[in-house]
Amino acid sequence: MTNHKAGLYIHVPFCAKKCAYCDFYSLSGRADVMDLYLSALVREIDGYRRQERIEIDTVYFGGGTPSPLGAGRLAAILDAVVEVFSLSTDSEITTEINPVTDSLSLQRDLKAAGFNRISVGVQSTSDAELSALGRPHTAAEALDALAHIRAAGFENFSADLMYAIPGQSTASFQKTLSDVLSFDPPHLSVYGLIVEPGTSFFDRRDALSLPGDDAERDLYDLCCSTLEQAGYEHYEISNYARPGRRCLHNLKYWRLSPYIGCGPAAHSFFDGVRYANRADLDAYLTAPLSLRYTEERPTPRDLAEEYAMLGLRLKEGISLSRFRRMSGHDFAYTAKEAERRCISAGYMTEVGDRLALTEEGFYVSNAILAELSGD
Ligand code: SF4
Repeated sequence: MTNHKAGLYIHVPFCAKKCAYCDFYSLSGRADVMDLYLSALVREIDGYRRQERIEIDTVYFGGGTPSPLGAGRLAAILDAVVEVFSLSTDSEITTEINPVTDSLSLQRDLKAAGFNRISVGVQSTSDAELSALGRPHTAAEALDALAHIRAAGFENFSADLMYAIPGQSTASFQKTLSDVLSFDPPHLSVYGLIVEPGTSFFDRRDALSLPGDDAERDLYDLCCSTLEQAGYEHYEISNYARPGRRCLHNLKYWRLSPYIGCGPAAHSFFDGVRYANRADLDAYLTAPLSLRYTEERPTPRDLAEEYAMLGLRLKEGISLSRFRRMSGHDFAYTAKEAERRCISAGYMTEVGDRLALTEEGFYVSNAILAELSGD
């Protein structure tokens, strides 16, 4: 008997080395506390034990990087999840893998433990670009990781790629796309590099040889056209999938569905409340439940606005009637002028009940979403 349904995110805050562009909560050089982290995480998961168990249909291990934990610890976490939650038999169970901590035996063990989807951080198949990004692996190791996925028998997997990398050309990006497509991945996430405050890149931003606006646009267009010709659906601003292979876990975020996050810095949206764990591994190790704080209990109006801002990231867009039911008024009531401008500029379409960004709108989505939200 279950009374809820949610996705489950596990944040693993370990990395072999901090990448130059990364603003995620992750730490290098902390392998000594991985067992303590495991027991703290199991305690946090155990805190979700209910008489009527919470139903989970997607599990996503991210970070940081889960693969340094090794298959034994990752399997133990999955065992704890199965013990506490009601895990649907057809659940999507993903773990991210960094090529530097990958091996065929790791992937075989993950498959035996019940994982059925791998997300591998390739980023580029140019050693010069990987070095510029501060990635801890080579192009050959990234391609080996993709080969291991196939050899271990995973049918569902994703590769993360980047564009607008310092020194990247359209030719080198074309090569990365071709190299990765030769493994026929069911899913790809492709992100444009953003230089975020608090990163090593940000500290030396003026010295980086980043592509200019036109060059970046060329890289984006190359990505869209190459993947479209290869049969992928551009279903979210940065995500492409073969039919039936969208990332079900991430769809929960964009569709405003409930999810529970465990681990330091993990966020949750469950029982109508947004809450999070502070990003503090050492405090987490001794008292994992003490880090949690409530971010907010969103009002119906807040939720409607979030639904619009997240849903417009998807090609399917938003349902105007759902927005009306949630907020009590029409979408056009708050964003009428902005919506009209975006539609006439070709950035958005309104067809029947659906309002959605176009492919052109995806490229300038940050500006459009800011305009629609009145920021
Ligand atoms: S591997 Fe991923 S999480 Fe770790 S430092 Fe690099 S970008 Fe950040």
